[in-house]
Amino acid sequence: MKVQDIPCRTILNPTGGFLGSGFTHTINLYRGCALGNTLCGLYCYAQWNSFHLQGRRWGSFLDVKDGVIDAYRSQYDRLKHPRSGEAKPIHIFMSSVTEPYPPQERTTRRTRQLLEEMSIRPPDSLVIQTHTPLVIEDLFLLQELHTRCRVNINITVETDQPTLPQPFPPHAYSPESRIQALKTLRDAGLHTVATVSPLLPLRDPWQFASNLESSSDRVILDHYLLGDGSPEGQRTERTALPQLLRDTGFAEWTMLEKFHEIVGIFQEVFVDIDRIGVSREGFNASGP
Ligand code: SF4
Repeated sequence: MKVQDIPCRTILNPTGGFLGSGFTHTINLYRGCALGNTLCGLYCYAQWNSFHLQGRRWGSFLDVKDGVIDAYRSQYDRLKHPRSGEAKPIHIFMSSVTEPYPPQERTTRRTRQLLEEMSIRPPDSLVIQTHTPLVIEDLFLLQELHTRCRVNINITVETDQPTLPQPFPPHAYSPESRIQALKTLRDAGLHTVATVSPLLPLRDPWQFASNLESSSDRVILDHYLLGDGSPEGQRTERTALPQLLRDTGFAEWTMLEKFHEIVGIFQEVFVDIDRIGVSREGFNASGP
């Protein structure tokens, strides 16, 4: 894994497409991803971003953005304190094409430093979307920020299986550790969302739904055929995921019939269907 610093002049990126109806901006403090060689890297939509790759292999690099705080300050002040006209809303989704809590965050502290700055310059709302339980290390900071703006913590838990059969790569962090992180955050008064996205094969769907119901305020369910940002999951079909599922006896999980069956189980377990979101509408409902 090659880790290097890169300069950054703007950090609040206007949204469009998949997140455009719920958020005004995305923030990505890193480029590339340290988790790119793990299970989620297999299907990760960000791996097709040629501007970020610059000929490099997904999972082989992590660019750490420098100058993030200065960029946030100046963009924030222009949006919230314009020389003329009204202040603009800032509803942030962090992150859309990288992981905000890679293991390197423990030394770079890019995400932590930005959260500290946000407690001075709070957005209107912030969604943190992560694949790792490391977010709980910023628990006190998130609680403080939550008093200044709406904060949602989304943690992806795409399956209940600790491992999928070879040749699937391993998880970076176990599903159990991520569910425990959701519970810790929720018990601390933060708004938590389990994102089952994309849905992968489940061993016990009823128990999985029950575990997420007791650890999360909401759940968002998605299938790559619906939510990978391309018609009929074409982007994911370019990855090894669909064929590996078929080769390892999970072909039914590549079909929407199975997805709708799982949504039905979640609806029965959660009872309050307002706590369940599906695909694009579900993600955008986390915004304002
Ligand atoms: S953590 Fe997120 S950005 Fe990183 S490889 Fe996994 S899905 Fe992609």
